[in-house]
Amino acid sequence: MKTLINIIKSFTLFELLKGMSLTGKRFATKKFTVQYPEEKTPQSPRFRGLHALRKYPNGEERCIGCKLCEAVCPALAITIDSEEREDGSRRTTRYDIDLFKCVYCGFCEEACPVDAIVETRVFEYAFFERGQQIMTKDMLLEVGRKYEEEIAADRQADAPYR
Ligand code: SF4
Ligand code: SF4
Repeated sequence: MKTLINIIKSFTLFELLKGMSLTGKRFATKKFTVQYPEEKTPQSPRFRGLHALRKYPNGEERCIGCKLCEAVCPALAITIDSEEREDGSRRTTRYDIDLFKCVYCGFCEEACPVDAIVETRVFEYAFFERGQQIMTKDMLLEVGRKYEEEIAADRQADAPYR
């Protein structure tokens, strides 16, 4: 009996018609496909993308070289050297993040007491030479300078949930 049904289905192109009817049903409905990169999906203020080091509005670096981010990083991706300045404050002389090691967990930004290291919404980046995956302090500060407005707005939006 089962064989007979299968033969009838084959001759009437039942499966094909079934598939075409589904295609027809979806033809006029709202599309869920996003035409990336022209179209982008919404991002959360908590999106964890490329790292940045922030400065205060007066230009002073936020980072105080406490190394909490380095200690908490599960991937050992952060390397920090620091020294005391003449005014007695501590600042980093080296702040590197190896993006090949990083797992984008966000622990570093959660651990930072002064909101210095953050993860931005930037996710479209690539490396073409060996060694380019090491984000140095200057590179991180530059990302921070470029996206400070967006970073500050995201921190503000997320503040009630922290
Ligand atoms: S996001 Fe996570 S893995 Fe990456 S540097 Fe920060 S703590 Fe380390
Ligand atoms: S980024 Fe924050 S947690 Fe890391 S060393 Fe600087 S102040 Fe400390």
